[in-house]
Amino acid sequence: MRLSDTDSLMLHRPPRSFRRILLLRLLFFSIPILLIGQYATVRKARSSLLDTARQNLTSSAVRKATDLNRSLTFSQTVLQTLSRTTLLQQGDLAEVEARLPDELSQLPLLVECFQLRPAAEDPAVEDPAAGDPGPGTCEASLPIPTWPTTLDSNQPIPFILSPTKEVVPSIQDPISSRVATTQDQANGYSSFSVVISVPIYGVDNQLRYTLTLKATLSQPKNIRPGLLVGETIIIDSQGVLLLHPDPELVGAHVSTVRDPEGRLASIQRNVYTGNSNTIHLFGFVPGPLEWLAGYTGMDVEIALGESDRWTVLAMTPIDHALQGLKDIQDVLILLTLGLLGANALLAILVASSLSRPIERLSHHARKIQDLAHIKEVPDHFGVRELENLAEILNNMMKRLEERAQALRHAWQDAQLANQLKSEFLANTSHELRTPLNAIIGCIRLVRDDCCDSEEEAQEFLNRADKAALHLLRIINDILDIAKIEAGKVTLKPEKVDVLHLVNEVVDLQALHIQQKHLKLVQPDLTEPVWILADRAKLKQVLLNLIYNAIKFTDKGVIKIEIDVQLDKETQINGGNSGNGLSPGFDEGLPRPRVLVTVTDTGIGIDPEQRHKLFQPFVMIDGSTTRRFEGTGLGLAISKNFIDLMGGAIEIHSEGVGKGATAIIGLPLAPSEILSPTKSLTGSTSISN
Ligand code: ADP
Repeated sequence: MRLSDTDSLMLHRPPRSFRRILLLRLLFFSIPILLIGQYATVRKARSSLLDTARQNLTSSAVRKATDLNRSLTFSQTVLQTLSRTTLLQQGDLAEVEARLPDELSQLPLLVECFQLRPAAEDPAVEDPAAGDPGPGTCEASLPIPTWPTTLDSNQPIPFILSPTKEVVPSIQDPISSRVATTQDQANGYSSFSVVISVPIYGVDNQLRYTLTLKATLSQPKNIRPGLLVGETIIIDSQGVLLLHPDPELVGAHVSTVRDPEGRLASIQRNVYTGNSNTIHLFGFVPGPLEWLAGYTGMDVEIALGESDRWTVLAMTPIDHALQGLKDIQDVLILLTLGLLGANALLAILVASSLSRPIERLSHHARKIQDLAHIKEVPDHFGVRELENLAEILNNMMKRLEERAQALRHAWQDAQLANQLKSEFLANTSHELRTPLNAIIGCIRLVRDDCCDSEEEAQEFLNRADKAALHLLRIINDILDIAKIEAGKVTLKPEKVDVLHLVNEVVDLQALHIQQKHLKLVQPDLTEPVWILADRAKLKQVLLNLIYNAIKFTDKGVIKIEIDVQLDKETQINGGNSGNGLSPGFDEGLPRPRVLVTVTDTGIGIDPEQRHKLFQPFVMIDGSTTRRFEGTGLGLAISKNFIDLMGGAIEIHSEGVGKGATAIIGLPLAPSEILSPTKSLTGSTSISN
């Protein structure tokens, strides 16, 4: 499958820093939460404001209805009371007409005009049909209801109240009668007018006049944003609009008003079941505004014992109801901006404080990556995981350093081994060639009949034989070391008397010792010292040690000792030799055991070179040992054989020219543990 360019771009996009990722994540999660919080707060504030507005508008509608009803009821009562006054019952028409305006001024209504119509049988009455309003202040005649001609003084005075369904244009304060100022236009009164008639009976209970007055009822209106007094709408039970903000609709039937969702019908239904509530209205008032209306019903007494249910609405544009929301939104926007700023600052601080320790750690890791400047990883990050990481890094660096050290040593060892092998090849080829040349030379002399006598020919053949044997020894050594390196050496353990073996080896070397005029000190033991070992290999080791002692000693003594140690208290180093062997020599060497020591007074060994002794092909100092024949394999072979037999081998020397001591330790054969009768060192013996 081939990757598209976009995919490969994304794959190769350089990784972002931890600080940046943290910052982006913090902002990514916190900003939407802040914005959602702001949105939820606005929604909540809006619904709270609407709830408050609905309650206020319902209260406003109830208040308007109560005020209106109170005004009407009070006015009726005042008029009924007035009709029983002496002035109206007994006063003549002119006097009544003159004094009535004063009396009517107590009404909580703005009386536009009044009409005082005497009863029909009164001779002073002019013909109502002529349109003359008669006594009073009205310019046009008001409707005259029909009353009973007599009424007992204990009977309630009847009355008739009917709305005029006329537009009342002027906005006036009903109490002070002042004309509204411009400011009042939005903060004034909505008015409609009613006609109220009461009959006036004389003291003789006979009908004298009908007092009719036309009065204006006003409702405060306030449609300024934030104020929820609202516009007033009044609808009577017939569905006629008595009061409406649109003057053209006053007197019209509600069915002529656009009400697509039938909300007015629902309002009227609610009002007839006695409910007050709020409703959202669209198009009820011309214009695009959505209105919120609180409504209630009000029972108006239109005649004695007869009432009509009017619907009173207090309405305000919904934007005015939600005026406070704008302020809340402004505050919220400011608050959100502030919070976003603070949030961004906090995100930067948090991201930097969290990423700083990681950056320190990464910086440190980069510095130490080439292992050239390994330093302790800084700590005190204040974050547990990072401190753990620092500790792990420290440990890792230590281990790496140790391994690097080990590798360096291994490399040095490999180089040394390589160098030794080269030296070995040079030496070995020399060592092989020397006897081989001797053999060839001697044999040719005999073959070509170049000898003067039979004895001389015999002498050459002896030399060739000797050289061949030497060659064989060298080849055997090489084969042995090859076997050792291949791990193919096997032991044939058997019961061996070390004393006998040592004496056997000494006998083999006796001639050599004599030739070099060296003094030999042999172990002064008489009893055999039995161990479990591979006889041939142990003999090879002893031969090598004694041969080396003789080879590297020009004058002096070769001393061979056997020391049997039975208990823990007897220390090897504390024995007779006192030869300063390395402390780890007898570690892992069990007791009882036997130590064989070969001490010479020869060329000695440089202590600094001592550690190389048992490595294959090592001839410690090529310049001095060049004088002596050898391959550098004897000690390596010996150590390997002794290790396989569960023993230990060590060579010690005080220094160059101060002789050397070779010591081997081997465990005694278990069945042959003997009780010592005396010290076993030097001229000591072991008894059964
Ligand atoms: P070779 O004797 O064939 O050279 P060895 O493994 O036996 O090999 O000895 C290794 C080296 O140890 C010798 O070349 C010599 O430098 C040193 N060495 C061994 N024994 C003695 C000793 N008794 N005195 C001084 N040097 C010794």
